[in-house]
Amino acid sequence: MKSALTLSVALATLSLCACSAEEKKENAMETANTAPQQPTGKVEKTDEEWKKILTPEQYRILRQAGTERANGEVYKQFKEQGAGTYYCAGCGAELFSSKEKFDSHCGWPSFYDPANAKNVTTKDDFTGGMVRTEVNCAKCGGHLGHVFKGEGFDTPTDQRFCINGIVLKFVPAGGAKPEVKKEEPAKVEPKKEEEKK
Ligand SMILES: [Zn+2]
Repeated sequence: MKSALTLSVALATLSLCACSAEEKKENAMETANTAPQQPTGKVEKTDEEWKKILTPEQYRILRQAGTERANGEVYKQFKEQGAGTYYCAGCGAELFSSKEKFDSHCGWPSFYDPANAKNVTTKDDFTGGMVRTEVNCAKCGGHLGHVFKGEGFDTPTDQRFCINGIVLKFVPAGGAKPEVKKEEPAKVEPKKEEEKK
């Protein structure tokens, strides 16, 4: 009788051990699945969170589908920029590159194609009494501008991605991908971002 009891206690202990080991494994797997969320996932923030990391002008354009003034300061800088990549100012997704940049004389940065097509989405836009095609960042949903087709530009696609320069973060060729600002109030890092010329 005594040995039978010992056996059942031993069995119970054994099954308890097995059970908790299984649980531990499951927990570990769960952690592994949820930890790296950034690379492919969408970036979602509340309006308040966006306001903390964007300038008022960036917020107005990216989150409220605004349009910057044509031929503004940002456009002048854009025209002077050489080889490099343009990232989303909201989430850091790679959007356009200098390879597809062309001068459309429209007053806004123009590209004939995205650099990374999967990071750019389009949809019909019926605002303003016309039908246009809105261009958005696929990762954060931010409004970038519009795309126009068949205007006769001498480019490989005959498309003009008409993009607000203020929502693009330019990184010269060879430079590091931009760090996306955290939710602390926007402070300009001293000198780091300064252009040489
Ligand atoms: Zn984005």
